[in-house]
Amino acid sequence: MHHTKGNGNFASFSMEDFLKKSKGYAVIDGGLATELERHGADLHDPLWSGKCLISSPHLIRTVHLDYLEAGADILITASYQATIQGFMAKGLSEKESEALLAKSVSIACEARDMYYERASEGSCIEDGRVLNKRKILVAASVGSYGAYLADGSEYDGNYGDSVTLATLKEFHRRRVQVLAEAGADLIAFETIPNKIEAQAFAELLDEDDIKIPAWFAFNSKDGVNVVSGDSLVECTLVANSCKKVVAVGINCTPPRFISALILSMKKVTSKPLLIYPNSGETYDADRKEWVESTGVSNEDFVSYVNVWREAGASLIGGCCRTTPDTIRAIHKVLSAGSSTAVPSKD
Ligand SMILES: [Zn+2]
Repeated sequence: MHHTKGNGNFASFSMEDFLKKSKGYAVIDGGLATELERHGADLHDPLWSGKCLISSPHLIRTVHLDYLEAGADILITASYQATIQGFMAKGLSEKESEALLAKSVSIACEARDMYYERASEGSCIEDGRVLNKRKILVAASVGSYGAYLADGSEYDGNYGDSVTLATLKEFHRRRVQVLAEAGADLIAFETIPNKIEAQAFAELLDEDDIKIPAWFAFNSKDGVNVVSGDSLVECTLVANSCKKVVAVGINCTPPRFISALILSMKKVTSKPLLIYPNSGETYDADRKEWVESTGVSNEDFVSYVNVWREAGASLIGGCCRTTPDTIRAIHKVLSAGSSTAVPSKD
C-alpha cells in the first residue's frame, strides 16, 4: 500500500495549508547522527550520517520511525552530508552516488509508510508513543558546501575567495535535482552559513525547474548575524524573494539565540518561520566533535518552545544533539498550548 508517495507537484503544495490543517504548527524531527550512534552506527567518517546510507539504512529508518512516534510531523532525510562528489571520492560511480541520494528519501518514505501502518492499527497514544494518522512531510536535506568539506566550515561560512556563486551552484545542482525527483515533499537547505550560498540555492530552484518547494535554514553563533557575519536580514530577503521557498528560519544554533533571530526575520518576511536549534553544546571543528556538557537540558530546551511560538515560529524541532525525547517534549508543549495559541497576526 503506497498511500504516501511524495508530493511531486509544486503547485499543489502550500506550507500555509499544511500548517492550517495541523493546528497552525508542525513539529520537525531531531538530531540524526547522535541517534544513529546510539543505535550502534560508527560515524567517524567525512560522510558522517551519509555513511549509514551505505552501511546501515535500517538504522536510519529506525531513527526516522522513533521521531515519528515522538510526534514529529516532518522527517529530514539523511542526506545532509551526502553528496555525489563525496561518494565518488569513496570510489562509487556517479550512478551509484545518485542512487544513494535517492535512497535517503526512500528510507524516510518507508519509515512514514511503516508509521502509517502502525497508526492505523488503532490507539492514539500508548506507552508514550504518538500514534495518529496525520500528514507527514519528508524533507530532503541539503547541507551547505561547508558540510561537504567536512572541516566545520559550515560553522564559519568562510569558503575563501575562490568559491564563487557559480562554484556553489555547480556543486549543488545535480544533488538538488536528484533529491527533488526522489519523492520528497520538499527540500531542506540546512545550516546555510552565508548569503552567497543562499543565493546559489535560490537561483538553482528557479533556473532548474525544481518541482518541489524548499525551506532555507540559516545558522548563527552570535544571535544577530549568520555564522559568516553576513546580515541575517539580507539572507532572509534572499529566501523571501524566491517563490519556491515556503518557509525560512534557523537551525543548528544554540536555543538562547533563537527568539531574537526569529523576531528580526519576521520583520522582513511573511513566510512561515521554522526553527530547529541544536542542544546548545559547542562544536569543536578541529576535533570534529561536540563538547559535552556545554549545552542545555531537555527541560531548558523545551521551556523555550512557547516563547519561540509566540515570537512567530510555526515549525519547531531540534538539530544536533537533540533526541526523540526532545521532540516528544516539544510535541507535548505545542499540543497542550494549541487550543490557546494566539494566531499569527499577519
Ligand atoms: Zn545541527
